[in-house]
Amino acid sequence: MHFTDLGIDNRLETQLAHQGITQPTDIQAHAVPTALAGHDIFAQSKTGSGKTLAFLLPAVQRVMKQKALSKRDPRVLIVAPTRELATQVFTQLRLLIAGTNIKAVKILGGENFNDQIKALRNDPQFVVATPGRLADHLTKRTLQLSGLELLIFDEADRILDLGFTEQLKMINDLADHRLRQTLLFSATLDHAQVDALSRNLLKKPKQIMLSAANEQHSDIKQSLYLADHLDHKEALLEHFLNQDDVGQCIIFTATRADTSRLSEALCAKGFKAQPLAGDLAQNKRLDIMDAFSRENFKILITTDVASRGLDLLSVTHVINFDLPKHAEEYVHRIGRTGRAGFKGSALSLVGPKDWPSYLAIKAFLNDELKFDSVDGLKAKFKGIKEKKPVAVLATEKTVAAKKPVFKRKAKPKKPSAPIKAPINIDGDTPMRRRKKPEQE
Ligand code: AMP
Repeated sequence: MHFTDLGIDNRLETQLAHQGITQPTDIQAHAVPTALAGHDIFAQSKTGSGKTLAFLLPAVQRVMKQKALSKRDPRVLIVAPTRELATQVFTQLRLLIAGTNIKAVKILGGENFNDQIKALRNDPQFVVATPGRLADHLTKRTLQLSGLELLIFDEADRILDLGFTEQLKMINDLADHRLRQTLLFSATLDHAQVDALSRNLLKKPKQIMLSAANEQHSDIKQSLYLADHLDHKEALLEHFLNQDDVGQCIIFTATRADTSRLSEALCAKGFKAQPLAGDLAQNKRLDIMDAFSRENFKILITTDVASRGLDLLSVTHVINFDLPKHAEEYVHRIGRTGRAGFKGSALSLVGPKDWPSYLAIKAFLNDELKFDSVDGLKAKFKGIKEKKPVAVLATEKTVAAKKPVFKRKAKPKKPSAPIKAPINIDGDTPMRRRKKPEQE
């Protein structure tokens, strides 16, 4: 199948061929004609499967071929949760529009606001933005959305996880007209918050669900290793990094401080490693990403800031030095390898502190997730045994027997209603209800 079979213009197909892209991927084959037909889309497809072009191609084609609603306002707005992902999208967009008179602007947090105002005054047809800075421009009216034709959310679930619900509402309200088309993409869209969001944003959307969020990625080999403590994790890490098949590698840690500490430890052992943390200045972040993409160094150590923004086919290994708290982030982290049909390996180190995350990921993936081991580096830690649930009736009897002071006249028994555990905002660990004093 060719891109022209999907309704894509010859010029765009030639542009793709220059990048060595000749055949549409599955998500492109489904989403491109649907978007060109003017439908709203709710699309889920695995990491590295070509989602970016699936929304950029119809967007660029629309701008090339259809008359604009407004000459001044942007025609296409693409919102991405992190600066890294927005930059990635912007880079692909620039390649597609090279040689045309289409203008695109990137609006990221951490960059000069006035420079962005100047760039917006050039009336770009495309704006690629992170939600916080975008909302600042909307509030200050340095950007208007009344002429917006196409609103695209990349990794919409992460935008919500980062707490940008209000900003999304503002964008939606300011571009609220009958002619707007909206596309929502991610590898992990199936959670309740996203459902609620899509009901507000999308009109009769076509669902394109090419893989479940928790489906095994056939191009990524996943292995897990138990670890006793930090030193043990570092010994395992050194062992993995010394293997011949390791090309470029991304290591994820739990905190920013760990990225620097681990980087120093690895450099001291002769590895070429660099930390990338969210608190770095934006230009420094971009420099590091750029140097990594040019393969100037082999090991990038980061937190979840980079779990969705890096698209490098040279990444052969992802190592979770610590497991992420949210199971969806595990899917996105390991998805930094095994992209565009290449094979990759994801190795995860699981110590006592990682155990709750391990259980959450195991439940999310609906998978056994067995452990491997390295000779000479086997862990004593074997996991934390789950406590057996104690029957409620037995507990009540025990409490009553131990505390005769509180013994009350027996009331006729009502069938007990199941206790609903409130779910916290991230939808993971249920929060405990505080006991009322009189019950204590
Ligand atoms: P994405 O899932 O959009 O981040 O894309 C993952 C990688 O696949 C990127 O490096 C794209 O350039 C590449 N890619 C996208 N579409 C195709 C295609 N049709 N054929 C080959 N590679 C592609």
